[in-house]
Amino acid sequence: MNWIAEDQKYVFQTYLKQPLLIVKGKGSHVWDEKGKKYLDFFSGLSVDNLGHCDPDVARAISDQARKIVHTSNLYYTLPQIQLAKMLVEKSFPGKVFYCNSGAEANEAAFKLSRRWAKKHGLGNEIIAFENSFHGRTFATVSLTGQPRYQRGFEPMAEKAVFAKFNDLESVGSLATEKTCAIFVEPVQGEGGVQPATKQFMEGLRQLCDQKKLLLVFDEVQCGMGRTGNFFAFQHYGVKPDVLTLAKALGGGLPIGAVVARDEVAALFERGDHGATFGGNAVVCRAAMEVVKILSPAFLKSVKRKGEILHQGLSKLKSKFPFIREVRGLGLMQGLVLNRSGKIYVDKAREAGLLINCTHDTVLRLLPPLTLSEPELRKGVSILESALS
Ligand SMILES: *Cc1c(COP(=O)(O)O)cnc(C)c1O
Repeated sequence: MNWIAEDQKYVFQTYLKQPLLIVKGKGSHVWDEKGKKYLDFFSGLSVDNLGHCDPDVARAISDQARKIVHTSNLYYTLPQIQLAKMLVEKSFPGKVFYCNSGAEANEAAFKLSRRWAKKHGLGNEIIAFENSFHGRTFATVSLTGQPRYQRGFEPMAEKAVFAKFNDLESVGSLATEKTCAIFVEPVQGEGGVQPATKQFMEGLRQLCDQKKLLLVFDEVQCGMGRTGNFFAFQHYGVKPDVLTLAKALGGGLPIGAVVARDEVAALFERGDHGATFGGNAVVCRAAMEVVKILSPAFLKSVKRKGEILHQGLSKLKSKFPFIREVRGLGLMQGLVLNRSGKIYVDKAREAGLLINCTHDTVLRLLPPLTLSEPELRKGVSILESALS
C-alpha cells in the first residue's frame, strides 16, 4: 500500500509530515513498518514523556477500560477526583477543570479572564508574548504571537497585545486599565525553546499583584516533569493564578486540565463551562499513573540527564560554527542555528534519530524523560553525525 498517497487522498493535508510510518514503540524507541528502529528525541511533541507504551500506564488504561470508560460529567468518578487532588497537591491550593487538549485548557483560562475582568472592573485585553504558542482554536490562536499561525484567518477573535518575552519594560508599557490578564509560557516551546528569566517571572507576578491582573502560566509543553521540576514554574519561585496543562499529562491519551486558585475557580458557576469528554475515567486513570511516576527521585534524574544533554549539545556548539546557541531547561533543549534546521531533521531521521525543528532555525530536542544515559549519549552522537 502506498500510505502517503492514501493519506493525501483521505486525510486533511494540514501537517508537514515526515515520510515515516510508525507502527510500534517501546521506551525511547519507535519502529517503522520495515522494522527500522529509531531513537525518539521528540516524544510525540513532549506527550510521551514516559517513553512509549509505559507498562504501568498501559495497565492502568486497560484496567479502567474494563471497569468504566465514560459517564459524562453529570456523575462522579473516582479517578477524576483523585487526579485533581494529586494535581493540586503538586501545584498550589485550588481546583481543577478538565478538558481534552492544551487549546481547550487555554480557552477555559481565556473565559476565566473575562469573568475576572467583569468582577474587578477591568478591560478585556490580554497581554501575551511574541513567539508564544497557545493553541489553534480561534481564541487561543488570537493569543499566539506568531503571525504565521493567524495568517488567512483574520479577523482574530480577540485583539491580544503582544509584549516582548523576557522584557518587563515592554510588558509594563502594555499594561493599562484595559488589561485583565497575562498569558505566558515559562519556557516557550514552539517559539524556539526559550526559557523565561527568574527576574522576568518575578516581575510578571509583581505587576499582576499591583494591577490585580490574572497571571496564567501555559505549561502545556513545559510542564509534567519536562524541565526537571514537576512544573516549570517551580524553577522560578513564582506561582500563577491559573495553570494550564495537557500534552504529557495523559501518558499519550488526550486530556487537558486547568488548575486555578479557589477564588478564580469560583468565577465559573454551575453550567458556565464544560466539556463532554473532560476528565473521563480512562484518561484520568492514565494521568494518575503519570503523576505517580514523576516522583522527586525521578525528577532528580531528569535534571541530571538535562545537564548531560546540555553539555553534549554545548560540545556540538564548539564544533559547528553554524550553531549560535544552546538553550533550554531540563530535557527541553534547543540548538539555535544560523540557518534552516530542516535538513538536519532529515539527516538525523535517516541515521535513526527523531528530532524536530521549530521556529525554522531551532532544533528542538524533547527526549523521553525515562531514557537511559547511554541512549542520551547515543542520541547526541547521531545528532553530531547528522550535523556533519
Ligand atoms: C501544544 C501546545 C498548546 C496546544 O495544545 P493542543 O493540545 O494541541 O491544543 C498550547 N500551549 C502550548 C505551550 C503548547 O505547546
